Amino acid sequence: MVTQRRPQIARDGEPSTSAVDFVRAKVIADTESGKFGGRVQTRFPPEPNGYLHIGHAKAICTNFAIAAEFGGTCNLRMDDTNPETEEKEFVESIEADLAWLGFTRSGPTLYASDYFGQIYAWAEDLVTKGQAYVDDQDAETISAQRGGFGQPGVESPYRNRTPEENLDLLRRMKAGEFPDGARVLRAKIDMQAENMWLRDPVLYRIRRTHHVRTGDEWVIYPMYDWAHGQSDAIEGVTHSLCTLEFSDHRALYDWCLEQLDLPFEKPEQTEFARLNLTYTMMSKRLLRGLVEEGHVDGWSDPRMPTLQGLRRLGYPPAAIRAFVEHIGLARTNSLHDIELLESFVRTELNRTSLRRMAVLDPVKLVITNWPEGEQVMLEAVNNPEDPSAGTRLVPFTGELWIERDDVKPAPEPKYYRLFPGNEVRLRAGFYVTAQEVLTDGDGRVTEVHCTYDPESAGGTTPDGRKVKSTIHWVSAAHAVERTVYLYNRLFTDPSPGADGRDPMESLNPESRVAMPGAKLEGALADVTPGQAVQFERLGYFAADVDDPSVFHRTVGLRDEWANIQKRTSR
Ligand code: ATP
Ligand code: MG
Repeated sequence: MVTQRRPQIARDGEPSTSAVDFVRAKVIADTESGKFGGRVQTRFPPEPNGYLHIGHAKAICTNFAIAAEFGGTCNLRMDDTNPETEEKEFVESIEADLAWLGFTRSGPTLYASDYFGQIYAWAEDLVTKGQAYVDDQDAETISAQRGGFGQPGVESPYRNRTPEENLDLLRRMKAGEFPDGARVLRAKIDMQAENMWLRDPVLYRIRRTHHVRTGDEWVIYPMYDWAHGQSDAIEGVTHSLCTLEFSDHRALYDWCLEQLDLPFEKPEQTEFARLNLTYTMMSKRLLRGLVEEGHVDGWSDPRMPTLQGLRRLGYPPAAIRAFVEHIGLARTNSLHDIELLESFVRTELNRTSLRRMAVLDPVKLVITNWPEGEQVMLEAVNNPEDPSAGTRLVPFTGELWIERDDVKPAPEPKYYRLFPGNEVRLRAGFYVTAQEVLTDGDGRVTEVHCTYDPESAGGTTPDGRKVKSTIHWVSAAHAVERTVYLYNRLFTDPSPGADGRDPMESLNPESRVAMPGAKLEGALADVTPGQAVQFERLGYFAADVDDPSVFHRTVGLRDEWANIQKRTSR
């Protein structure tokens, strides 16, 4: 969980900008000036219309970490003002994701829909004060009249209705007297404002749609801008943090709150850059498309950038938190390499995961001089990075499974593994020398016959001779057979959907490769759901969270990110 870590303050009392991002710098300045009575309260406000993705993790970590660092609180609030798309399944998945990431909301899950009554009452006040009006025009007309940048807006012919008439119409809208779309409530601000959001934005529309929580109580629903700041105010939020696409809304956020005559300081919105990752799409609409068109097996498919997908893939939440902290908060959007995120996953798994042996593409290795029927138990280290993980005993016999790729029928340049006459070390086991390599009609290796050196138990020989290669293996008699899934990027395009391209056209047909007959050491029969392990030489793999007899490759062993940095810094 998050520890209390107050950002560094330089000696003269000014925030030391090198250690503190602009959002934290603002929070520090506010607490020091006594604004909001020194309180810090944030919130994470998802719209429950899909599963959370890795981008949301940035918003979650930011809001919860800042609250924790300043001894404040952070709510989880469902922004459920749009009745069309919201489902209970999404609310439950959001709550589960938050807990998985390691954050505890301050109190129960909150819902903007619980504030519909108050939000509506404030709308009546606005009308009474002459600051909002009912417009009878349709959506297209209103939109056309907004004008554009450098293009003036046109005032609605209904703009100067009296407050009495507007109040009567608003109440009748609420009572269900008019059909959907017949009228809207608009703020009366300024049709010539440079900021388009201030050109008399729509506050309420008529929609006869059943709402998951409020049922059929309401036929009018508030727009985002007339609900978000109000919800913040009702909850006592101080710092309303959101992403840059809301920058243009800030003036409207402030305007709406100014109209409420709040008896306390109004919350303030601050925007930071969204998280974008290469080879990844983060729009819920597009992710929903992947699910509905059957390109993936649901929202929690390990190829999805959803938190449930990444969890199934084996990402540790600590790695996601560390990544978000590392990239920090900036004022301009940027694109991060997915390899950077993967390097955090690798670092965490290297520290925490048990080492095991597994053979994904097995061929039989027969030791011809092994005493018939004999079995020895060899000691193998569970995690060289963590001595407390101890060792285990692995059975060794005269028939083993090894990777097909670790044997060749004849020597090849720079190939040091098994070929006739060559000696290798078996991990934690003996030295073996290939004597004969059997192949099928296509030249594919089917079996290798070796002799072993009985003096080489544990991987050393009395004469200290060296071999160039160590390979992994699993005793054939003890292996458990499992399906292991390997993954490639879901998209072949580093920026799927950029520059008007159709992201679906860059879907990778080979994003998932099943290895149905993988041979795993017996200890892997006992993994817990979701447990991540390192398959020696192959990468990090996680037992499926629902079916631990299936494994997913989380990330490779090679640090692609380190390589990229080396290449670019040359
Ligand atoms: P999408 O566009 O993917 O559907 P959204 O912005 O509509 O996402 P919301 O449920 O409204 O999703 O978002 C909840 C919070 O998460 C918002 O405060 C939003 O700013 C933040 N958020 C969404 N996407 C990202 C991202 N890629 N990086 C950082 N924060 C994000
Ligand atoms: Mg949204």
